[in-house]
Amino acid sequence: MGLALLLALLTPGCSGHPIPQASPSRSGTATQVAPRPQPSPASAEEVLAYVRALSVDIGIRRAGTAGADRAADFIDAKLREFGYEVTRQSLGLPNGKATCNVIARTPGVGPGTYRLVIGAHFDTMPTGPGANDNASGVGVVMSLARAWRYRDLPVPVEWVAFGGEERQEGPVGSHHMGSRAYVAALRPGETGRIVAMLSLDEVGANSAHEVSSLGSGPQVAVQRLLAAAAAAGVPASYRKTPDWSDNGPFELAGIPAAFLWNGDYPLFHTSKDTIAQVRESQVLAALRIVEGFLNGLGAADAQILQPPPTPTAQPS
Ligand SMILES: [Zn+2]
Repeated sequence: MGLALLLALLTPGCSGHPIPQASPSRSGTATQVAPRPQPSPASAEEVLAYVRALSVDIGIRRAGTAGADRAADFIDAKLREFGYEVTRQSLGLPNGKATCNVIARTPGVGPGTYRLVIGAHFDTMPTGPGANDNASGVGVVMSLARAWRYRDLPVPVEWVAFGGEERQEGPVGSHHMGSRAYVAALRPGETGRIVAMLSLDEVGANSAHEVSSLGSGPQVAVQRLLAAAAAAGVPASYRKTPDWSDNGPFELAGIPAAFLWNGDYPLFHTSKDTIAQVRESQVLAALRIVEGFLNGLGAADAQILQPPPTPTAQPS
């Protein structure tokens, strides 16, 4: 167990309050400008280290259990270390327990700001350690969050680790609890401030990627991801899917959203979904696709990806 994980395990879970930490200090006097940090690039090796921490050191991360709380603590601590303001959005589960979303925002970027949401769910079914589903997606989100923290983007990114994506005990349709809670909590008119949402959910298996969506709303996030994959020389194709991942609640609210994944993966939700299934080449391909998407953003994208909100017509 690494020191970072050990420290994470000592901090409160979803039901607790994160330990406040000092924001990154700026050295020197007021007349000196601190050099902008230049983090090293995201890498497949780094992603695999996060996959190991989540799927091997922590293991099963069923929403509402200690495993999920430990994962939330680990992700929270890392995102703070990278220089983000991290908040927890707690949410109730049908069985009366609770879990949370872990949300990382660049200081100054928050509700009311045009932004991208790039997320991945950290919970698992009770049946397996969820290395590919979905420590792989969380690992890609974390590596990108670190590497892109100080990059100037036309549209800033909010990085989210969603809780409770997997099917819960309870009524039919008790899934995607974290992304549903996120969308439900948006203030009136704020759906128009999220210019696009990407869900990374199983990105480490097989040998190609798929870009999916419900196909019911604006498809610009899908088109941009496919273009980024083509430009990076990474095999990727489109498949319209049912409501299979955290992109669903965003799409249903009219937000352009897409689901990046490795296509059908027979070991999902089984005890065999271990780190041995997560391929470095696939993780690297996922990094390249999302980085291409980010590099392709232009100054006008806050208006192009989604028109400005009309407060009276927006779902809340
Ligand atoms: Zn999943």
